Amino acid sequence: MEKIAVVIPKAFQKLGLHHKFRMEMIFYRWHEIVGAEIACHTRPISMNHGLLFVAVNSSVWCHHLMMMKESLIKKLNHFAQSKVVTDIKYQTGSIQRQENSDKGEIELSLSAKIRSILLTKEEVAQIRQLTDSIETQELRQHVFSLLVKDCKLTKYKKDQHYHPCAKCRTLCPPQDTYCTVCSIEARQMRIGEIYKVLKEAPWLQYRECKNFIECSAFEFRKARQQLILQMIREMEKTVPPPLVESTLVMLLTSTKPEFLNNDLIEKTMSKVRRKKNVFAYRQ
Ligand SMILES: [Zn+2]
Repeated sequence: MEKIAVVIPKAFQKLGLHHKFRMEMIFYRWHEIVGAEIACHTRPISMNHGLLFVAVNSSVWCHHLMMMKESLIKKLNHFAQSKVVTDIKYQTGSIQRQENSDKGEIELSLSAKIRSILLTKEEVAQIRQLTDSIETQELRQHVFSLLVKDCKLTKYKKDQHYHPCAKCRTLCPPQDTYCTVCSIEARQMRIGEIYKVLKEAPWLQYRECKNFIECSAFEFRKARQQLILQMIREMEKTVPPPLVESTLVMLLTSTKPEFLNNDLIEKTMSKVRRKKNVFAYRQ
């Protein structure tokens, strides 16, 4: 595979566009970088501050790819010859462009709006000058169209009064305080906090938890699932002490310690051992 440094036009480096170029090349050469097998099940969607969003067509593959995340990041950065990707977030769903779904329509209308933005003659000439030095015709056309898209997007954002994210200063829509990456980071932190609270007070329900931490029901559910899975995984390794079992039972049934009894513990634990759907106990 041709190394990326060979094809990066010098002018891009001068203009500070080389990072964007490396990133776009990852999208463009995805198939070659990750290999045919992975490419069959995935599609890179977007990248934001080193966080790469990838659509995956099945949860089995999602799990598989989670296991090889580090090596995939290494591969991508090796190709880009720069630390372009710092993390990957997988999203299960169709890897085809969903043009019929609601989301597809929103995306479509947004991209239609961006397409409708007009560039000045000078802007187009500037982009052409930049890409002129790329020898391969196919690549030249690809880079040209992505730079046009980028230029239109920047103009669109200015028109729409995008403002800098309160944390990292990336441009984001007027109604959002934070950009996607910062929102995800904040969510992960809240999930981590709920996890800690649930470890101390496993019987808590969402409405009670909200008194301690401002969080959504989704975040609460995530934290609870993580803790349950973590405890079950540990139990598979060793015979758990009674305290661990009662913690898990409280977590699964929202039972306060004073209402725990042997019957409940036994019933719940036997279900856990039979690997019944442990998440079905409560919301
Ligand atoms: Zn941000």
